[in-house]
Amino acid sequence: MNTVYKLGVVGIGKIARDQHLPAIAAQPGFELVACASRNASVEGVRNYEDIGALLAAEPSLDAISLCAPPQVRYEQALAALEAGKHVMLEKPPGASVSEVVALHDIARARGCTLFASWHSRAASAVEPARAWLASKEAGALRSVEVRWKEDVRRWHPGQQWIWEPGGLGVFDPGINALSIVTRILPHEVALRAATLTTPSDTSTPIAAELDCVATNGAPVRAVFDWRHGPVEEWDIDIETDAGRLSMREGGKRLSIAGKDIALQAEREYPALYERFHELIATKQSDVDVRPLALVADAFLTGRPIETEPFGR
Ligand code: NAP
Repeated sequence: MNTVYKLGVVGIGKIARDQHLPAIAAQPGFELVACASRNASVEGVRNYEDIGALLAAEPSLDAISLCAPPQVRYEQALAALEAGKHVMLEKPPGASVSEVVALHDIARARGCTLFASWHSRAASAVEPARAWLASKEAGALRSVEVRWKEDVRRWHPGQQWIWEPGGLGVFDPGINALSIVTRILPHEVALRAATLTTPSDTSTPIAAELDCVATNGAPVRAVFDWRHGPVEEWDIDIETDAGRLSMREGGKRLSIAGKDIALQAEREYPALYERFHELIATKQSDVDVRPLALVADAFLTGRPIETEPFGR
């Protein structure tokens, strides 16, 4: 990792502080030079109110990492790409699939890297699970069951954007499960039906059920629920000819055919910044919209169910 890229971070909120800033500080391939946020600032770097001011004042920046909610992802990414910067997108990479496809095209035309990051794909269990499922030993895929349930009041206290159009509702965590499933299965997954349970006072669902099918015919079912507590359930069970693969705690634990598998220590965000560095250095992009496409398909085809007001 020879080249050190000058980096700007935009949208200093929960995930920027919890994960991005510590991961960047520990990453020799990036130097955090400046941040942009309307209400927050980061000590030790130059701070601006918005991405426009940051780009205007910091022409020597190489790369921008976008950590604001998805509704503003497109405008921010467009501004950064038009300024010739390499761009890393938090998940979800946009509020719509077409936005992300367009950004990818613009990045290509500009010769910039676009990295649509999926942090859950960097969970420790993901690569061992993918490798086993791709091996002859696993045999054929028989079924997939995803249970992604948590208490929204615990994990998203006071966040309003999750309930607004483009905020995804329960798919904000659910898309993490879909990012894992689309990475580890040896088949593509098609959505066949969905139900979306939406409070009468929100624009986005508080719960959802997805019925999908893998291209070998195996059923893939996902249940997402934000009315769950107090202990969250971020589980994926996959049946194969050779037994069950179980992922627990969002990819922190793995068992295969009844045996616990020893995993590397957790390092999702450090791994994402390593990947971003590698992509820039090798002049590539990494843009996989399949998790977002499944969510969009659920909104396209899902049967709506109205439920009691959330009381936001
Ligand atoms: P957040 O704290 O609510 O928002 C991040 C920051 O974005 C806010 O503090 C705000 O800073 C800025 N922002 C909000 N609305 C904006 C707008 N309309 N225009 C410009 N800036 C705006 O959200 P978060 O939890 O960090 O989530 C941000 C993204 O990270 C989401 O896509 C989420 O899915 C993803 N993510 C979150 C988590 C998590 O655990 N929270 C985990 C993984 C990924 P200013 O007010 O200072 O501008």
